[in-house]
Amino acid sequence: MSFESLNLHPLILKAINDAGYTSPTPIQEQAIPELLTGHDVMASAQTGTGKTAAFMLPALHRLASPSQARSRGPRVLVLTPTRELALQVSEATAKYGKYLPRAKVVSILGGMPYPLQNKLLSQMVDILVATPGRLVDHIQRGRIDFSRLEMLVLDEADRMLDMGFIEDVERIVSATPATRQTLLFSATLDSAMDNVAARLLNSPKRIQVATSKARLSNIEQRLHYVDDISHKNQLLDHLLQDIALKQAIVFTATKRDADTIADSLSAQGHAAAALHGDMSQRDRNRTLIKLRQGGIRVLVATDVAARGIDVAGITHVINFDLPKFAEDYVHRIGRTGRAGASGIAVSFASSKDGIHLKKIERFTGQRIASHIVPGLEPRVKPRPGGGAQPRSTPSVAHKRSRTWSSDVPPPRSNAYRSEGDWKAGQSRSPAGNRDTWGNTASNARTARASSGGNGRRDSFGNTAGSSAYFRGK
Ligand code: AMP
Repeated sequence: MSFESLNLHPLILKAINDAGYTSPTPIQEQAIPELLTGHDVMASAQTGTGKTAAFMLPALHRLASPSQARSRGPRVLVLTPTRELALQVSEATAKYGKYLPRAKVVSILGGMPYPLQNKLLSQMVDILVATPGRLVDHIQRGRIDFSRLEMLVLDEADRMLDMGFIEDVERIVSATPATRQTLLFSATLDSAMDNVAARLLNSPKRIQVATSKARLSNIEQRLHYVDDISHKNQLLDHLLQDIALKQAIVFTATKRDADTIADSLSAQGHAAAALHGDMSQRDRNRTLIKLRQGGIRVLVATDVAARGIDVAGITHVINFDLPKFAEDYVHRIGRTGRAGASGIAVSFASSKDGIHLKKIERFTGQRIASHIVPGLEPRVKPRPGGGAQPRSTPSVAHKRSRTWSSDVPPPRSNAYRSEGDWKAGQSRSPAGNRDTWGNTASNARTARASSGGNGRRDSFGNTAGSSAYFRGK
């Protein structure tokens, strides 16, 4: 299929041509015709699939015809969970709409000065890209006129849900005209998204693009709750003593940590090295060759540097720090279990990482079972829903089931514990108090025994494709 056959405005086609796009991506191919006919659409599409153009090209096509309404307010509103995504969307919009006379984009994001935003909002706006919290502020101050709004896009709606922007999004939606066309984009379309759609969309067309499904079935995913950095180091040391670990990649959040950990492991006698973006290409290549030849057992790396590493001998991936984005989790753990082998992916998470973990699990469609190492049990019990909120504040999980959906199951008290761990909890606590975490090694040993040694993975593997359309191209 060609872009020409989609019947988009010639000035949009011209910009697409400038961008070097030769044909629409699958999500564009399916979503654009539906959107041009005016239907509401809910689509599963991840970053990297070309989803921005999938909603923005039809939005711009609308803007090519003048509005009937006499107002200066936006005709298209895009809500995004993060500032970064909002900026990406704004940039893409400016690129696709550069030849159109009525495609002025304004971004309204948290953390930016109000006076400038007030000024921007007092002028003519065609497309408004915003994060929910700040937009609600402006709505409450009466600074936004939605009377000519034609299209509303909820981009990465699943992330907005997970981040607790529910009420803000609802407030915004209720301030827009009922005649609007509404689009919902989410990494996965599950029952929570169906509920959102049922409330905010009007008989939406459902588009699910077949992305290459997460190939994670040969990778055992494990989770270790950690108290602090020293606990992480102890667990890492424990994992590295396992003779089944032939080669491992340890992922850190920063280049500096990659260096520090690699140095410290080398000092302890491990064949370890760092790999990150501050190293010269020559050094990076040299390290990768050494890894491939088996001269390095533990590679400590950052996300960017580790992209594309394809070494069959990697038996373990260890997320010393959780990745910032769920997609990176899939990318990281995919460094093991190459060429038909099996692999183990271990993630360290603190009690505050609950929301983050949820995002990862939602993205992969799989639960990560928690594990305990005898003698290295976490002191702090993780809280379901995550976050360091005070007790009186409902967790995101609570909020979510309260406001968005009636049939989302209530948060489980032990959200990230496998069934095996639950049983272990029973045996740890003679009184049957499953909220008590075992403190002694012998209790934890019982835990391991009853979880079948390695624990079992509680897999819901029925959603989420992992690799985005352009990845691997
Ligand atoms: P997105 O999923 O919207 O973040 O887009 C991912 C990347 O794909 C961006 O760099 C876009 O510029 C690019 N892209 C979007 N649509 C196409 C297309 N039809 N052909 C080639 N590249 C595209």
